[in-house]
Amino acid sequence: MLEIKGLEVKLEEEDKQILKGVDLSIEPGTVHAIMGPNGSGKSTLSYVLSGKDGYEVTGGSATLEGQDLLEMDPEERAALGLFLAFQYPVEIPGVGNMTFLRTAVNAQRKARGEEELSAADFLKEVRAKAKSLKIDAEMLKRPVNVGFSGGEKKRNEILQMAMLEPKMCILDETDSGLDVDAMKLVAEGVNALRSEGRSFLVITHYQRLLDHIKPDIVHIMSNGRIIKSGGPELALEVENNGYADILSEVA
Ligand code: ADP
Ligand code: MG
Ligand code: MG
Repeated sequence: MLEIKGLEVKLEEEDKQILKGVDLSIEPGTVHAIMGPNGSGKSTLSYVLSGKDGYEVTGGSATLEGQDLLEMDPEERAALGLFLAFQYPVEIPGVGNMTFLRTAVNAQRKARGEEELSAADFLKEVRAKAKSLKIDAEMLKRPVNVGFSGGEKKRNEILQMAMLEPKMCILDETDSGLDVDAMKLVAEGVNALRSEGRSFLVITHYQRLLDHIKPDIVHIMSNGRIIKSGGPELALEVENNGYADILSEVA
């Protein structure tokens, strides 16, 4: 699904190398988690994959189902099935949540050469999916994320993800700032989307999210590289002992 080889990235603005050769291979239908100390480059990796400005790729490659992601603009990446849920969801004043979702869904369908969803079909689908995430109808009418609580924003992102039906979902600290109930809802939303053809990359500081979204593989990132990979037990090791043991073991 996603194949990253030797990815090296620096900031455009300053001469600072952030990713120093990231290797990551994600099979269809699997959930990978990335953990790691603050500043290790986790968010940078997700931004570069989504095509955000400000980063320069100085080496390596990243492909989605064999297609070169790094050559594409962000819209093309999304149309191919890449979805990034941000740590800090953006507010879009003046644009109703429902309108935003419908525009996004139809833009993606168009890019894939599919017909637009009818208004009635869209409404039916968005209401059903919103309900399962405990998002009420009133929230669908409000401007995107404006005045939403932290938990509401995160649930709204999972709704966007559910509507867009991406193949490769990247969640960057989607659990940060959530209370336990909101985190469980987000996790349930993600779990409901797990399927054979869809993969997830879950970036998180805390092991607790991984109690609810069970990863197949856990990676530890430090100083711009993935320094260790293993099963879910690796996340528990971090929870119990912190990163110090792993860092010194690798060093
Ligand atoms: P993480 O998500 O693992 O906490 P980040 O990818 O956010 O790490 O950051 C990696 C490193 O790159 C940090 O040292 C951070 O300060 C630096 N960095 C990232 N983006 C910028 C930026 N736009 N300007 C300056 N430094 C940045
Ligand atoms: Mg950080
Ligand atoms: Mg981050």
